[in-house]
Amino acid sequence: METTQIRLAAYPVGVPADSDFETVTTTLPEPADGQVLLRTIHASLDPYMRGRMSTAKSYAEPLAIGDVVLGGTVCEVVESRSERRSVGDVVLAFTGWQTHAVVDARQTKLVDTSSAPTSTALGVLGMPGFTAYAGLLEIGRPEPGETVVVAAAAGPVGSAVGQVARLKGARAVGVAGGAEKCRLLVEEFGFDAAVDHRSETFVDDLAAATPDGIDVYFENVGGHVTEAVTRRLNRYARVPVCGLIADYNATSTPEGPDRLPGFMRRVLTLSLTVRGFIQDEFTASHGEAFARDMGAWVADGSVRYLEDVTDGLENAVEAFRGLLDGRNVGKALVRVGPDPS
Ligand code: NAP
Repeated sequence: METTQIRLAAYPVGVPADSDFETVTTTLPEPADGQVLLRTIHASLDPYMRGRMSTAKSYAEPLAIGDVVLGGTVCEVVESRSERRSVGDVVLAFTGWQTHAVVDARQTKLVDTSSAPTSTALGVLGMPGFTAYAGLLEIGRPEPGETVVVAAAAGPVGSAVGQVARLKGARAVGVAGGAEKCRLLVEEFGFDAAVDHRSETFVDDLAAATPDGIDVYFENVGGHVTEAVTRRLNRYARVPVCGLIADYNATSTPEGPDRLPGFMRRVLTLSLTVRGFIQDEFTASHGEAFARDMGAWVADGSVRYLEDVTDGLENAVEAFRGLLDGRNVGKALVRVGPDPS
């Protein structure tokens, strides 16, 4: 069996370029005992992958030059030498940007194909949905009537944060790039208000949308959004620090005055709780509750989701650039092959 792979050819400097990747077709080994041969249906595009393309110190090891670009996938089992999996099973795997892979069956998780489209295992019912759920409930702890603000709000993490906040009785304000995304936040996801961070009136619009200040800021982006939002935090506000996508392609520190002292002053004088997290630290404590709650909310329509699907593995790099640049609306996926479900 042959597989076509996209491999890292160089560590990108700034925005990833086509020349930072190479496409290679190679022959896979026959599956050994306990292994399965997988065909990729959907490959996930996630902001964290940019961090794996850099040797800067982080919470996970970087890819080596020549590695297949790794990431979550939904795959069909096409050959099995394991009692755990049967041919035709749809599984969640971590096989990255390639059409086929041979892996240990224990590295796959069965996807329930009866209740929701299989692609949701990479989005609202998968890692991004879990990130939103666990980060918001464990660190943000929204109370009824409080105001929760989240940026990258039209993406899979942000849209789930806003909707779960509303289910907990809080007021949800989403920050997104452009009028169309802001419209979706209110009309599709039920946010109470949406603010366009690309607008010249962003700071004033944010103030108008948060008349009682901000009790929870779910941090997804950093940059100018953080600067504006943290000036409106209330006493005892909570800030789950989930991501800083505004900086992922940065090649130098931002120009202008050092704003850290002002921020730390707010941390002190407002008794803020600012807590970073990587989602898998909450798997044991929140995994079961997430599967139960989010599964039910998606099934009954209380949590909605959007997907931004790009066809063809050959378009993965361009779609990934689009994700970092805000061109995706909803969970960014690459459809690598047909979905049997
Ligand atoms: P996403 O929202 O689909 O995509 C990222 C979005 O970020 C873009 O669509 C863009 O939306 C926005 N963005 C990009 N540059 C920006 C800037 N300079 N200022 C403001 N917004 C900007 O991605 P996601 O998968 O839901 O992830 C959201 C965040 O969560 C990311 O930071 C990611 O790294 C983080 N994350 C963390 C964990 C964890 O365990 N800690 C797990 C998953 C994800 P706009 O058009 O709205 O600007």
